[in-house]
Amino acid sequence: MLDMLGIEWLIARLDLIHPIVSGNKLYKLYFYIQDALATKKNILVTKGGAYSNHLVASAYYAQLNGLKSIGLVRGEKAAQQSHTLQQCETWGMQLAYFSREDYPQINEDKIQEYISFDKDQCFFIPEGGYGITGTKGASLIMEAISSLNPNYITIAVGTGCTLSGLLYNKNSQAKIIAVPVLKGFHDLEKNMTELLESQTPLNFEVFNDYHFGGYAKKNHELLQFMNTFYVENNIPTDFVYTGKMIYAIWDKIKSGYFTNGSKIISIHTGGLQGNLSLPDGTLVF
Ligand SMILES: *Cc1c(COP(=O)(O)O)cnc(C)c1O
Repeated sequence: MLDMLGIEWLIARLDLIHPIVSGNKLYKLYFYIQDALATKKNILVTKGGAYSNHLVASAYYAQLNGLKSIGLVRGEKAAQQSHTLQQCETWGMQLAYFSREDYPQINEDKIQEYISFDKDQCFFIPEGGYGITGTKGASLIMEAISSLNPNYITIAVGTGCTLSGLLYNKNSQAKIIAVPVLKGFHDLEKNMTELLESQTPLNFEVFNDYHFGGYAKKNHELLQFMNTFYVENNIPTDFVYTGKMIYAIWDKIKSGYFTNGSKIISIHTGGLQGNLSLPDGTLVF
């Protein structure tokens, strides 16, 4: 069908950077880690939920650079620890748990109240790697793919930080397509204005109808699609982010959204470890 429509659809496989760690999270962390090393701070402190791809990436990247890491986790410690948090500990991250009421109050100025380490040794990274530093890191993704001269670049969106990275350097002609995985995500424009320090660019569109009920929500149709996509293309996706984005693009290709002769690059941000929370046998990969 792609041939018939003259559409070239490429997938940028950031998932191949590491089997467990989300590729886009490593890009977002890049300049944070550089800053930590430059300022000779040796403990990375960050925060996230029990299924946070960002926490896993931080644990991994810290260890790779010889840094200690501390994860401040939203919610009490569960009897059955998530795969995500188990993986964080494997990479040496120390975890501290906070009630849902306390969690939002934790910030850089207050970390000393929660940890016994000297604050001067600690480098704080905001939740999700969100921030201008994260955006600059994500802009490196664009450098890696823009020479392929796509007409469209598509990306799954959580906070919009990775998306903003794609729009950070304004020299690409490609239209950027964002697929939010949250339902009714109203802060996207606000986040983008903050991260890009300018108005939302024009060469950009949001496909809002592919969240499948909300963050980490899924249905049979999505899982079925992920299985079929894997069987046909040998590319695994995750049900929280990339499965929804790829589904959206396929749906829009079928409905004729993309003009004949287009070259589309969809960015596979990774996140495959999230599939471990599905019951055995749900996916064929
Ligand atoms: C976090 C994440 C995203 C979304 O990134 P944002 O910068 O928060 O928009 C997309 N895909 C995967 C696999 C992720 O882990």
